[in-house]
Amino acid sequence: MEHKVISRENLGKWLDTITREYDLIAPTLDDDVVLFKEVKSAARVLLDYNNTVLPAKDHFFPQTETVFRFKASAGQLAIEPEPPLARPRVLFGVRPCDLKSITLLDHVFDGDFQDGQYLDKRARTVLVGLGCNSPQPTCFCGSFGIEPGSSPAADLFFTEMEGGYLVNIQSEKGKEALQKGWSFFADPDAGQVKEASERAANAKKALKLSVDPKGVKEELDHFFESPYWDEISPKCLTCGICTYICPTCHCFDINDTSGQAGERFRCWDSCMFTDFTRMAGGHNPRPTKKERVRQRFLHKLRYFPDRYKEYACVGCGRCLQKCPVHMDITQIISDVKGGKLQNAAK
Ligand code: SF4
Ligand code: SF4
Repeated sequence: MEHKVISRENLGKWLDTITREYDLIAPTLDDDVVLFKEVKSAARVLLDYNNTVLPAKDHFFPQTETVFRFKASAGQLAIEPEPPLARPRVLFGVRPCDLKSITLLDHVFDGDFQDGQYLDKRARTVLVGLGCNSPQPTCFCGSFGIEPGSSPAADLFFTEMEGGYLVNIQSEKGKEALQKGWSFFADPDAGQVKEASERAANAKKALKLSVDPKGVKEELDHFFESPYWDEISPKCLTCGICTYICPTCHCFDINDTSGQAGERFRCWDSCMFTDFTRMAGGHNPRPTKKERVRQRFLHKLRYFPDRYKEYACVGCGRCLQKCPVHMDITQIISDVKGGKLQNAAK
């Protein structure tokens, strides 16, 4: 793999240079909250942060997105599709857990059903990863085979080291973006490559939280009706926060505005909401919290691996941090492994 190094000062210059040709999306402070936002200047890019409060999925699968606009007049209906991105984008500073989550979303939006709006954004975005040197206590990406210090899902991967960053060039698309400011980069010496690799290894060792998801799907195949779901669901407030902040959750609703002219739009939905599965006639196959909480965990740990052979969790820890009642997916995985669902069913 080709490597380059860049100083911290030159990183800012490179980011400013690429804004001439790309829209730059990066972690920035928005009312004291760290979020991925479009920035016009490198001065607004945050380099020292644990992870963003919301993952980057909003930039591929926006919270609300127009699908097309319509206008009816004189018995004719005109449909105007949403235009593609005006400019290519660089999405800078994505952590390895969130990079992996984008590849999981690819299964959904780039599989049997091809979602043109997602695919346009995906194809025209250069993914720039940034290694975690200090994982948080709630991070457990390693449990899903993700390394905090590297990611094959990025086009470019930056590892922080003394005075700057080592850059792994992992795709032609990434190299093209790097070449917009090629003079800011230099060839690394052997010591710098070694330092970056040691930092990545140390980050992996620094992960404190781990679970073993091996066999969890197979176990869950048998315990759809376990009373365990009755035990854990009452405390859920059905606020939906866990699904909105999760980088792999991808359920959405579609609506049309009313009138002779308007738009069809889609917006994030949540399996934790009462009306998520309510049908037009009023019947709801998931009428209580038990069915909804069970659905959330079975989707991540049973149905998604059934379809795509991978768990739909990347161990980012956001739901552990933000759930107001501490519903903890690592505890649920441990309970499954510990036979708690089986014991509850006896
Ligand atoms: S964040 Fe917690 S309380 Fe809110 S819906 Fe999710 S599990 Fe329930
Ligand atoms: S389930 Fe929780 S830990 Fe897993 S990817 Fe979603 S937010 Fe992150």
